Amino acid sequence: MFDFLSNISGGGNLFVAVIDLIIVFYFFYIMLLLIRGTRTVPMALGLFLIYILYLLSRQLGLATTYVLLDQFMEVAVIFLLIIFQDDIRRALVRMGRFAWFTKAQESQVVEEVVRTAASLAAKRIGAIIVFEREASLTEFMENGTTLDAAVTKELLYAVFIPRMENPLHDGAVVIKNYRVGQAAALLPLSTNPRVDKSMGTRHRAALGITEETDAVSVVVSEERGTISLCFGGLMSKNLDVGSLRKALHGLFSKERIRERQKAAEERKTKAPKLKLGDRPSTPSPPLPSEETQTEDTGATKERGDDSNN
Ligand code: ATP
Ligand code: MG
Repeated sequence: MFDFLSNISGGGNLFVAVIDLIIVFYFFYIMLLLIRGTRTVPMALGLFLIYILYLLSRQLGLATTYVLLDQFMEVAVIFLLIIFQDDIRRALVRMGRFAWFTKAQESQVVEEVVRTAASLAAKRIGAIIVFEREASLTEFMENGTTLDAAVTKELLYAVFIPRMENPLHDGAVVIKNYRVGQAAALLPLSTNPRVDKSMGTRHRAALGITEETDAVSVVVSEERGTISLCFGGLMSKNLDVGSLRKALHGLFSKERIRERQKAAEERKTKAPKLKLGDRPSTPSPPLPSEETQTEDTGATKERGDDSNN
């Protein structure tokens, strides 16, 4: 790293050096976005610390430590490729994606899932549909059957038909890269101690995966015929079709979230400043954040601790 920095500062082609830096920073930015909120983060930090120790041992002349870490560095690339294989794959996919194409695919997928949830709820067929977002779900899921199929209402509905002859109906469907990645996946159950005791395993599993990752899950209750949406360890219950569609679009559209955050900021700055001792006549609206926003679904939204799931 020291050589690298001295190469840059030592003159040469500054323009090329800047381009070089931008590429490296962009790469690390994408990687950080992808591993954010996953179990990969502590591993990445651990490896980074080892690398810092390696550089220090070289600079400070710690011969034994340096020899040891130098040998580790020789195989470190293979190590990195194995540990981060999922993240690297997703980074490559992400780099090659076009925004408008993604948006169209996203709308199509949301529509198919919303229509499926409505039909399943009407027939009181239980289901969990999980959307993988930035964080990979692979390490959180057990078993499951790989499908890799287009997301259509017909397929999703068929997967959840509760027949003995249909081994796919138990568990969750995972949507990954706008495809049905897996069916019958076992998700981690919620670890929230405040979760309502009467909440069954289907709802705990739908909530659990959103506590561990940034995934979004739609859960249909077999007992109640209701649709709920989970994200960031929160559950919005008893959603109607319109609210579900709106909430999903809201969760997936980062642009709109950013716009709303900007609008909220503007509202805040434009609001008349209160003098000390004044009381606002109405409470100011909460700032929307990506984790807690459901686009004003009108449905209840709690961190698991209520009674009517
Ligand atoms: P419902 O309202 O539909 O009855 P519930 O929250 O009361 O749901 P259960 O009645 O316990 O939950 O639902 C059991 C079903 O939930 C199982 O048959 C299975 O399909 C699904 N399920 C249970 N555990 C998991 C899990 N860890 N991951 C994915 N799906 C699960
Ligand atoms: Mg139940």
